[in-house]
Parts: sequence; structure tokens; C-alpha cells
Amino acid sequence: MKDVDINIAIKKNKRLADTYKYYGCKPEVEGPFDYLKDFVRDQFNKQYPKENFLVYWNEYNNLKDFKISDNVESVGGVSEQAHYIMRIITEYHFVQAFKAMKVDMNDPNVGGEKGTPYRITKMYTGNSLNDDSELLSGRWSDRPAIANFPNEQKQRFPITKRIDIVSVCSHHLAPFSTLFRDGAYALVSYIPDEKVLGISKLQRIVDWVSRRGHLQENLTKMIYDEISKAAETASVYVKLSGLVHTCESLRGTQSNEGSFSSEYYGGDFKDIDLRREVRGM
Ligand SMILES: [Zn+2]
Repeated sequence: MKDVDINIAIKKNKRLADTYKYYGCKPEVEGPFDYLKDFVRDQFNKQYPKENFLVYWNEYNNLKDFKISDNVESVGGVSEQAHYIMRIITEYHFVQAFKAMKVDMNDPNVGGEKGTPYRITKMYTGNSLNDDSELLSGRWSDRPAIANFPNEQKQRFPITKRIDIVSVCSHHLAPFSTLFRDGAYALVSYIPDEKVLGISKLQRIVDWVSRRGHLQENLTKMIYDEISKAAETASVYVKLSGLVHTCESLRGTQSNEGSFSSEYYGGDFKDIDLRREVRGM
């Protein structure tokens, strides 16, 4: 591909420009899935008939691996087109895995266009960078825009919200959640300093962070970090209480007793009485 094509594409797409700046991209790189290049190109050209396939193929090949608990922003972000390429390659390999397991792909409930490999891919990657509803979509979806407002009333009492959590364990990719048992909850509380967050946004931050592969302890701290950053205060308290891990409750030991609680806090919430008070709200 000619360099001039890349320059035109970059001019049209700010996100791509940022990605290229981040990597100092070479015009063409070798990638681990070059044997699929023609297959992916065919699908790409149907989806994006006016776009230059090689630009995004290179972007995909330049994208570094990132942790199952992180978002793609940790490696510089991705364009919608490169995300599409990632999905095509992923779906292809789910088809191969099903064949390896001797699953009859002529079964209309499994095979065919947009069959089970397509659906699993969607569940693990999201359908677009706006898709924040899938089990692992938080690895790829855009960071939610969080409005914060000046704390004009100078209020210094905790703002607390109980929410639900859906996440998957990084060991089995089996869901763990507040939804599987009565009384389970996730609680997020913070004491505003200079900034007050739009309250409806707390759930969106938590969803964005949760919908990745996690250990519950690490998820708890990651939620703390994101709320702390958004609200610009260390006085944040996160408690995940009574979550059921399906890798334990539905398989292996099939323990029905197991539920797991974890918490993380900082600032004024080092006071145990304050944490107790907030939990009682
Ligand atoms: Zn597990």
C-alpha cells in the first residue's frame, strides 16, 4: 500500500490518527493471522466498501495485547474498523474450535451465518465500540462520558448508590454477579470534594469496568480507582456483598453456600463507623 493512502485515511479519522501517532506505525506489518488476510478482506469490504482495508489491517496488527481486565484505551484505543477485523478473526477461530470439538455445524441451532460462533464473539467483544451490554464488551467499548459539576453547596456528606454488578471471572469466563441471590448488592459511596458526579453515571462507570474478566478483589479496587478519578477524591467506598460466582455454584464443587464479599476504601472512609453508617442507608 502507498503511504499516501494511509495519510488520506488518517486525515479522515482522528481516532486512527491518534493510534498511528501512538505506535509510530509502519506502513505494513506482519501479523499472526496473515493466513486469514483474504478471508477478512472479503468481509471487511462488504461492511466498509469505501474504506481502505490495509489501513485497518495494519492498525489491528499493531494493536498490542492488553489484560483481560483492561480496556483497549490502555494500549492507545482502536478504530471501529479494526474492532470489526478483530471480531471477524475471533469468530473464525470459534468456528474452528467448534469443529475441533466435533460439533455438527450443520445443526441450524449452532451453525450458519450469525450462528453460535458469531453470538459468542459478540458476547466476548461487543458488536461495536458503543456496545456496553455484553459480558466482555468493557474491554473494547468507549469510556463513558462522566459529567461532573462544581460542588457549589460545599456538601461534605456521602453520596451513596446501590447498584447491580455483572462480571465474569478471568479464570473461567463464567459470570459472577449480584443478580443470582437475594440480598447481594454492590454499594458505591463517595464524599464530594470540589466535584459532584451525575448520580446516574455511577452505574455506567461500574458497568464499563465490570464487563471484563476479573478477580472480584481486583474489580473492587478498579471501581474504586475509576470513581475516585471521576469525582476527584480519595474518599470513596466500594463494597461488593454476597456475589455468586457461577464457576463455583454451577460446576466443579457446585457449592451453593459460596458467596463472596469484598471492599475497598480510602480517605474519610477509613473510619469504620462511617462505612457502617453508609451500609445502613
Ligand atoms: Zn472462575
